[in-house]
Amino acid sequence: MDYSIKNAIQKLGGDSVIFDFPMSKYTTIRAGGNAEVLFRASNVEGLREVLLFLVQEQVPYLTVGKGSNILVLDGGLDGVVITLGGSLAFVDDDKIVDSGLFASSAIALPKLVAYCAKNGLAGIEFLAGIPGTLGGAIAMNAGSMGKEIKDVVLEVSFLNRKGEIERKDISELKFQYRELAFNTGDIILSARLKLKADQPSLIKDRIFKNIKDRNAKFPFNMPSAGSIFKNPDGDYAGRLIELSGLKGKGIGGAVISNEHGNFIVTKGKTSASDVVELMNLAKNRVKELFNITLTPEIKIVGKPC
Ligand SMILES: Cc1cc2nc3c(=O)[nH]c(=O)nc-3n(C[C@H](O)[C@H](O)[C@H](O)COP(=O)(O)OP(=O)(O)OC[C@H]3O[C@@H](n4cnc5c(N)ncnc54)[C@H](O)[C@@H]3O)c2cc1C
Repeated sequence: MDYSIKNAIQKLGGDSVIFDFPMSKYTTIRAGGNAEVLFRASNVEGLREVLLFLVQEQVPYLTVGKGSNILVLDGGLDGVVITLGGSLAFVDDDKIVDSGLFASSAIALPKLVAYCAKNGLAGIEFLAGIPGTLGGAIAMNAGSMGKEIKDVVLEVSFLNRKGEIERKDISELKFQYRELAFNTGDIILSARLKLKADQPSLIKDRIFKNIKDRNAKFPFNMPSAGSIFKNPDGDYAGRLIELSGLKGKGIGGAVISNEHGNFIVTKGKTSASDVVELMNLAKNRVKELFNITLTPEIKIVGKPC
């Protein structure tokens, strides 16, 4: 990126702009290259200002939540990584009206789940234990226990590339398995969720049970990006990888988890290329043995070294 462009971004974003930021520190898999620029937006006005500048100057950008479903390749990300916080990580009691609970996209799912339990709002217990933001969960149509976030979304607001806020009702949103199709470059700002009243103690019981079940299934004690591949129709990627004899297989610092075949965990210094190589190995082995093509669930971004 041109020095004058970097300078202008710094002027617009001030202390919220960091250059050459190691994305291995920001992503839960703890591997990968640097972002040329990281911009931490804390309100819509500041976000809009920087966004319009990036669009005008044709600077690429990527909005990231908690980085819990992303692998940044070792050559890093050109352009700007945008993260959201401040007033963009907000949940509003006053806005629990018939039209649903209003929450901003940067709120962390564990916080949102805890908030709902405390306030007797049932319906998102299935998100307990997923370490992302609401925005990331909507972009990925995150799910667990047979439910997906699309089941509770009433409406989503986006900041589009023209700097306008667009509200889309559930009937206009194209959710698919682990994906929401929306305009490239749009930023999810907030959502309204359909919840129902229940006793906090019952909600908490369901959350504890979900977390217990998940802890027994997934390797939460090591860095990962969650499920690496989408489940193919009628089957489980983890089952197929396990049957391929790859549990425990490692390349560099990346290892196919012994606890769950669809998790790649990392140990110490791991390059993104270790993870990609291991993914290719699993994909090829499953194709050879079962004639099933696995597709990545994680978002692989950036450029190789
Ligand atoms: C241990 C572990 C367990 C997990 N378990 C589950 C599970 O059970 N079910 C499940 O579905 N997932 C699971 N995941 C994956 C991940 O947590 C979810 O996909 C989560 O919703 C991603 O949220 P995030 O904020 O981290 O998004 P990121 O990983 O930061 O981003 C994911 C995608 O969303 C886009 N995005 C993020 N925020 C915005 C925004 N505001 N506007 C526009 N685009 C945005 C990014 O550009 C990227 O394409 C797990 C991950 C881990 C590490």
